[in-house]
Amino acid sequence: MQRIAEEIEKLRLNNQLRIIPNIEAKLDGKIIVDGCEFVNFASNDYLGISTKSDLREEFLSKFNDRLFSSASARLLTGSSDDYSNLEKTVADLFNKDAALIFNTGYQANLGVITSLIDRNDVIFSDKLNHASIIDGIQLAKGDFFRYKHLDYDNLEKLLATKREQYGRALIVSESIFSMDGDLADINKLIELKNKYNCLLMIDEAHAFCASKYGLAGYTYKKDVDIVTATFGKAVGSFGAFCVSNKDIISYLVNKARSFIFSTSIPPINVAWSNWLLNDKKDYLLSQNLKLQNLISSVHRILKERNIVTPSVSHIIPVILGDNNRTIKISEKLKSLGYYIPAIRPPTVPEGTSRLRISLTADCSISDFENVLNNLN
Ligand code: PLP
Repeated sequence: MQRIAEEIEKLRLNNQLRIIPNIEAKLDGKIIVDGCEFVNFASNDYLGISTKSDLREEFLSKFNDRLFSSASARLLTGSSDDYSNLEKTVADLFNKDAALIFNTGYQANLGVITSLIDRNDVIFSDKLNHASIIDGIQLAKGDFFRYKHLDYDNLEKLLATKREQYGRALIVSESIFSMDGDLADINKLIELKNKYNCLLMIDEAHAFCASKYGLAGYTYKKDVDIVTATFGKAVGSFGAFCVSNKDIISYLVNKARSFIFSTSIPPINVAWSNWLLNDKKDYLLSQNLKLQNLISSVHRILKERNIVTPSVSHIIPVILGDNNRTIKISEKLKSLGYYIPAIRPPTVPEGTSRLRISLTADCSISDFENVLNNLN
């Protein structure tokens, strides 16, 4: 116990102690924390769906027979037509043959990577991939190499020297990166995966329904073998999925332990995702258009002000480096009515603490400019 207390104290002294915030309510781009209302620049609900009360009421009036628990894993009794309809919906959105729902994006990445990679296999992973990909790699039995972020020359060098020594090889990358908002070169990754006979897996968690391609993502109609994404961000729901060919999906049903040994997501959630993606498709697309217009305006403003950013998307990092400074500016913005928590290691590499501004369809340009004016 002594060591645990010491570790906590060390985190506190380094300004790295994480505390769950006291969030009281969320509504249309606003968040109430500790009794105070803020503009929410920290949400992954990029289309502003999850807090829309009229949507929720309409849904509940039509689907009040859906259960709040599946009470079982999918392979036993935790399934229904809603699950397979949702799988068909996402497979169609990505122009793929088949899909499998996972409970979370974390479990999807864990399940896919550990199933596909065995002892004699190898993984090539972008250095800034999300923790769920890293944990999947750690849990998988094969070897792995991490290439420098978005550095495809570095990836090719690794492929050229290492790939031949292994059986199956998997290249894995996010499309839009969660903490930098930059974008992988999907075409280059496809070229390399073909040249070196690898499988290519792309995590579209932050792009699904939030990209300029509407409800799919950057891998739409591309030769990517496996795509994972979550319903917990732009769709404003919960759960996740993997789309691929029929064989890989069937393999995952039989091998992915995070799918097989876990109670499936509640039927009410599956119905909500299904309803949004099918019956409310036009509304989602109109929110997506609002978001794309906002992204264009924000990047134009950043350019006009000569602010250099890796971002090309709705995720705008303001990299401040030092934990203390990042927390101070986050607190200052809070006093002005803006909620943008400090993101610190280990979520981001040491020395790159940042404010991660995330734009949603409910954000306004004037609020964004006000934040920019107060970053010191
Ligand atoms: N992949 C990426 C890139 C993410 O950013 C996240 C969540 O933040 C996940 C996967 C995990 O998704 P979920 O929240 O559904 O577990």
